[in-house]
Amino acid sequence: MNILVVGGAGYIGSHMVKHLALAGCEVTTLDNLVGGFRDAVLHGRFVEGDIADRALLDRLLREQRFDAVMHFASHIQVGESVQDPGKYYRNNVVNTLNLLDAMRHAGVMRFIFSSTAAIFGEPQTERIAEDHRQQPINPYGRSKLMVEQALADYDRAYGLRSVCLRYFNAAGADPDGQLGERHEPETHLIPLVLQAASGRRPHISVFGQDYDTPDGTCIRDYVHIHDLCQAHGLALQSLMAGDPSQAYNLGNGHGFSVNEVIEAARRVTGRDISVQYAPRRPGDPARLVADSTLAQRRLDWRPQYAALDTLVEHAWRWECRALQPVEA
Ligand code: UDP
Repeated sequence: MNILVVGGAGYIGSHMVKHLALAGCEVTTLDNLVGGFRDAVLHGRFVEGDIADRALLDRLLREQRFDAVMHFASHIQVGESVQDPGKYYRNNVVNTLNLLDAMRHAGVMRFIFSSTAAIFGEPQTERIAEDHRQQPINPYGRSKLMVEQALADYDRAYGLRSVCLRYFNAAGADPDGQLGERHEPETHLIPLVLQAASGRRPHISVFGQDYDTPDGTCIRDYVHIHDLCQAHGLALQSLMAGDPSQAYNLGNGHGFSVNEVIEAARRVTGRDISVQYAPRRPGDPARLVADSTLAQRRLDWRPQYAALDTLVEHAWRWECRALQPVEA
């Protein structure tokens, strides 16, 4: 199979490129390197460019016959999306439509989309299943929901088949230790906590202690990057088999509070981690936990690294590697 991975130099995309290559696929990465790193693309062809560039997309899709496109390129910070929504609607919505139109034009009709739990907004149920009300509370979530809605219309009108994978909190690192989470600047809880453990940061700030949760800090469902890659592989097989378009919620079904994540990091690293309490971050719901029964049943998805400590341990190995001096 020949797959175009858009955003393949980013955190989830780079793990996916490796996963596809090891599964025997031909892979091309398209990435503008705004949030990604060239050296994170370990396999296949690399093209530097932006999905806003329609001529580039047309050329790329003409040059090679792709069986499917996986799209990981987007802005992902909830807080920033509240401050600067234009950036989110332009990149995450407008540029994605540009990509979809180029695909349609080239006759590439299978698409796997990185969506998010943020499309649901404040949860109405303990665990969030696919039929949960969709009412995002920040522009990031709205930008992803708009694309999901466009995809349903593109399927009906043009026959473009898609799978939307709604990640809860993607975390962890390549179990082989070759890849890991790298954002510039880093805003995600687990890498920041581990940077506080390794001494790269003086402390971790906990955003809000007055949420309606048992310890007052936000609860999230952390899902291992390796398990997310497995789900993408299964989604691809399902599209190749001619299954209809579908959206799936991907998480472990267990929530951990910010304080529990910090405790896990103390256990795994054996280090002191100093904590500072800070105000709530705008746009954060109190609790997001997935019901992934549908993905387990229909895709036969079986997460292998559901334990929080394993996930933190893999991320810690990556953090320790980032501390090593670069070999000459
Ligand atoms: N968080 C925190 N301190 C930080 C970064 C994140 O307390 O320095 C909290 C954040 O408010 C949220 C949870 O950790 O409740 C996970 O945030 P992250 O940014 O990792 O992922 P998101 O939930 O935004 O996708």
